[in-house]
Amino acid sequence: MRNSLQIAKIFGIPIKIHISFLLVLPFFTWIFAIQPEPFGFAGIESEPVKYLLSLLTAILLFASVLAHELAHSYFSLRYGGSISEITLYLIGGVSSMKEELHDPASEAKMAFVGPFSSIVIGIVLLAFNYLFNPTVSPSEGGPFFLMVFILGYINIILGLFNLIPAFPMDGGRILRAFFAQRMGFVEATEKAASIGKIFAFLMGIIGLFISFWLILIAFFVYMGASGEERQVKNRYGKL
Ligand SMILES: [Zn+2]
Repeated sequence: MRNSLQIAKIFGIPIKIHISFLLVLPFFTWIFAIQPEPFGFAGIESEPVKYLLSLLTAILLFASVLAHELAHSYFSLRYGGSISEITLYLIGGVSSMKEELHDPASEAKMAFVGPFSSIVIGIVLLAFNYLFNPTVSPSEGGPFFLMVFILGYINIILGLFNLIPAFPMDGGRILRAFFAQRMGFVEATEKAASIGKIFAFLMGIIGLFISFWLILIAFFVYMGASGEERQVKNRYGKL
């Protein structure tokens, strides 16, 4: 993919950063810097320290997303799939597959290991904070524990969010794999995509009352569901 820069190679897979990342990294740094505790560093008085911690947190968040993607890739490689590259957009990574796993059980497991690893990372970080932070409260133990808390918390949210049974989240793939045990791949994709759209629609309606962000996420889920459906139909010539 153009517009992206290779930063490393792990398990022989090129790891790339998309150009949008250059905008998203400062944006996330800024968000962490203005959020009050326990979700940001607004309480820290020194401006340079505040922004450095926020930048470090944003970079470590990106490392967690990479770990999530590597979990998918590692599983896929072990079960005979192949990954051509991983591209990171910070809010999500995309593992481009040369060959998809067509055994539904393997596909479900491959989709599941990503959110599973995010949740494990989250639990380990929160447990670390709970065990070693002398004050237990994330905001009173100093900036280091605050950062551990924020990263732990976001990883758990990231893991749970990805389990929502709608494309483009991993939960959508798990759902498709579930249907694919009973019907063809295209039909299973259609069914999973329509459930994803219903989810998006409900999310959007709830968003009208709760938060603008939810409407935005709903839109992203709707586009993801339609995109996956179109892509699969295209590949199998059923458009
Ligand atoms: Zn994933």
